[in-house]
Amino acid sequence: MSDKTKNFRRRTIGNHVLKPETQMMGYGFDPSLSEGSLKPPVFLTSTFVFESAEHGRDFFDVVSGRREARPDEVSGLIYSRFNNPDMEVLEDRLSLWEDAEMAIVYSSGMAAIYSAIMAHLQPGEVLIYSQPIYGGTETLLLNLLPKWGIKTVGFIANDSHKAVDDAFAKAQKLGPIGMVLAETPANPTNGLVDIHYLAEKVKDARNTAGERPPLALDNTFLGPVWQKPLLHGADIVLYSMTKYIGGHSDLVAGAAMGSSRWLKPMKALRGAIGNQIDPHTCWMVLRSLETLKIRMEKATENARIVAEYLDGHEKVEKVHYLGFLKPGSPAHAVYEKQCLAPGSTFAFDVKGGEAEAFRFLNALTVLKLAVSLVAQKP
Ligand SMILES: *Cc1c(COP(=O)(O)O)cnc(C)c1O
Repeated sequence: MSDKTKNFRRRTIGNHVLKPETQMMGYGFDPSLSEGSLKPPVFLTSTFVFESAEHGRDFFDVVSGRREARPDEVSGLIYSRFNNPDMEVLEDRLSLWEDAEMAIVYSSGMAAIYSAIMAHLQPGEVLIYSQPIYGGTETLLLNLLPKWGIKTVGFIANDSHKAVDDAFAKAQKLGPIGMVLAETPANPTNGLVDIHYLAEKVKDARNTAGERPPLALDNTFLGPVWQKPLLHGADIVLYSMTKYIGGHSDLVAGAAMGSSRWLKPMKALRGAIGNQIDPHTCWMVLRSLETLKIRMEKATENARIVAEYLDGHEKVEKVHYLGFLKPGSPAHAVYEKQCLAPGSTFAFDVKGGEAEAFRFLNALTVLKLAVSLVAQKP
């Protein structure tokens, strides 16, 4: 690596560690490789030219996992199913947010979740998961996994360690435990799962190979700004980048972050099946990362105002907002341990039934009725 290239992966100035939000315009990209362009161009190319046949062979050996890269060896670009400059810059910048060894980007959040499961679970193993979980994930777990001979055991996402203990006991009777998958806070209840506790539990669990299974955590709602699960013992952090990370309702994308121990098999699987992001969408997500911190800060500030308004409203039964957890309650203790702010996704119950709820929804003038987390009328 030249000194110049090193400069673009600089993490500190003296003793000062640069914050991710400071790094989102420059990190991981060398303008001198692209005509001095400040921003990475969109590399719309399927394939890359080798300097020689030997180079091509070496690149392929490393990317296919036939051998490890030598200490001084930088594996080059080959083919956009394996890697592409836009994908690499995006992965480098994403990993800064969680100080992760590695990030992998996917064509959707579901592609990331599917890949974590397929790379780590074997037929005959059991997957333990928190409930409620994102609808697409639940469909995947309940409809697809039985076909591959993988069993599932759910536990309710709240502050109860007993629910987790019961799920592990039940799973152990069904077979080796291949993975634990949690989503916290849960949508729509905002129930919290204690990440530290799950991390302790997986240490004692064993998969078919007799090794401990990974703890995968869907961090779409609070992360990566308000919750950093790798610090609390999670092994694989999963994202739908369609939501806060993308932030403009103009793309669908996903990501995984963690150590190479857990992510390398996922990267090999992505190269094999081709569920990576296209270069244009990578560029769009890079654009989004530049404003991620200030967008999430402002959304969090605004959400509190709306939650407080609804909380006092005569037609509202209950507001499920993390900012309202009672100090001293078990849920608040979990919140204090792992969350940095309540974020801006919350649910509320309108008094009455479906008719009252639909009347409310149909009367909205600024917000549009659509799934996902950012939808606004022009
Ligand atoms: C949207 C979402 C997903 C799925 O992501 P896509 O990008 O739509 O595939 C997974 N988990 C959570 C928590 C989500 O909100």
